[in-house]
Amino acid sequence: MKQIAIVGGGPAGALCGEKLAAAGFNVTLFDEHLAWEKPCGGGLTHKAIEKYPFLLNGPQAKKEIRTAELISSKGHRARFEMSRPLVIYSRAVLNGLLLDRAAAAGCETVHARVTRVETGAQNRAGRVTLTAGGQEHSADFVVLAAGARNQLLPDTTPLRPQDLEVTLGYFIPAKEETVKIKFLNRMNGYLWSFPRTDHLSVGICATMAKYTTSKLRHLLDDFVREEKIGTDGARFYSHVLPSPELGTLRHRKIVGPNWALAGDAAACVDPITGEGLFYALRSGDLLAQAIMQGQPESYPARLRAEFVADLEIATRLVRLVFRGRFLGGAVTTRMVQFARRSATFRELLRDLFSGAQDYGTLRKRLWKQFGITITEFTKDFFHAPHRHESSEQGTL
Ligand SMILES: Cc1cc2nc3c(=O)[nH]c(=O)nc-3n(C[C@H](O)[C@H](O)[C@H](O)COP(=O)(O)OP(=O)(O)OC[C@H]3O[C@@H](n4cnc5c(N)ncnc54)[C@H](O)[C@@H]3O)c2cc1C
Repeated sequence: MKQIAIVGGGPAGALCGEKLAAAGFNVTLFDEHLAWEKPCGGGLTHKAIEKYPFLLNGPQAKKEIRTAELISSKGHRARFEMSRPLVIYSRAVLNGLLLDRAAAAGCETVHARVTRVETGAQNRAGRVTLTAGGQEHSADFVVLAAGARNQLLPDTTPLRPQDLEVTLGYFIPAKEETVKIKFLNRMNGYLWSFPRTDHLSVGICATMAKYTTSKLRHLLDDFVREEKIGTDGARFYSHVLPSPELGTLRHRKIVGPNWALAGDAAACVDPITGEGLFYALRSGDLLAQAIMQGQPESYPARLRAEFVADLEIATRLVRLVFRGRFLGGAVTTRMVQFARRSATFRELLRDLFSGAQDYGTLRKRLWKQFGITITEFTKDFFHAPHRHESSEQGTL
């Protein structure tokens, strides 16, 4: 394989293109928008920064956020400092940075929409043909990194509504220093406000199969009002976000003899947090490594070894996190209350936010530190309630 076509220049496609071009492959990347403001929070966790330090060290505009506020559906609040900052980019800047690196490595970028991809045996000597901007191109292998709405599906199934979340949001001109996350009452999903350098990305995500966009828009507008976020100059957006079910992660075909899916198209997204940027980058990178070694068929096993097995555990926790009950209240409400009053629990949240805590060992850690969490909670509740009065809205 020498000639590689990549459809999609988001994090998955751009990083895959950079790595392959740097290794001497002849790579052409097609994107209908190139560096654009793709609807997104733009938040990169520390595990992404650790793997790709250029995301922090470069001169591109980005915001480093160290304070997070969790809000329960009843209005309880917990504010805490993160040990590692969340690095938040405008997607136009992030995509531009990744595409520039791909181009510098020798990847040719073409500003065009791909409307057709043929990978079948009818093609000359197993070559891929594709149509982009009305012109026909051919390649030895095609990487489909065209995002969650990807419709180019050689020999595989599309993501189903159960595997997708609908997201709605606003880009709002404002300056802020705190990431806010508000849980919803018995709904899989949450509201967020992610500050960027000169605006906020405020949004809501929830399972597509269950909730109407008008209900979500209503909840989003309530959140914006409650948080007193001015809406002058606000720009509305909506998009889909994969939230894969277990069977999808385990069984959906993501590679064939001359094609592979990467990033959102391969449903590489954390079904609890909606984090997809890290997984898009890693899947693009791991696919490039598999292609370089002449073993594209090893790509799913590489994904599984690195993160898909952990995401599968997350698929089993989604319902418990968003709809479960604990000690007579919603799990999310208890999480916020514990975070307010227990230093040990805040430490666990810090590790979850940074990516240092995986899902595989989460339950064990929760149970192991349950006693100390309850002790700290009780002590704080009875002995120092005045310290939190300013941020307390709900009651225990
Ligand atoms: C509202 C929202 C908020 C989010 N917030 C966060 C967050 O804060 N942190 C986080 O980690 N993740 C977040 N995510 C997830 C993250 O945005 C995605 O996981 C990530 O963008 C996936 O990268 P990708 O490269 O796979 O796809 P994309 O970034 O979607 O890139 C796909 C590219 O393909 C191009 N394309 C599509 N079809 C074609 C075609 N036919 N021809 C040519 N080009 C095409 C598009 O123009 C696009 O540039 C969020 C998602 C949403 C929807």
